[in-house]
Amino acid sequence: MPIEPHSERGQPCAACLGQRWATSETRKGGERVSKYVCTVCDWVYDPEIGDPDGGIEPGTAFEDIPEDWVCPECGVGKDMFEKVEE
Ligand SMILES: [Zn+2]
Repeated sequence: MPIEPHSERGQPCAACLGQRWATSETRKGGERVSKYVCTVCDWVYDPEIGDPDGGIEPGTAFEDIPEDWVCPECGVGKDMFEKVEE
């Protein structure tokens, strides 16, 4: 039976929704993976999608992307990306 936080109040709080529901979409093998955003053009790297055009398979964590990979939008390197805090 699924655990429903704060269900006694009839609705889950926003914090619970953000932590439990949102992370379920970005989870691989029980390990949470983060999105990263390009600080130059705001392109977002989603580990669930990867970057097929750049040779990055879906499910690849940003940390596992080769160092020579560049932003598909503006061409800057990984060091110009910032972790997206959720
Ligand atoms: Zn970019």
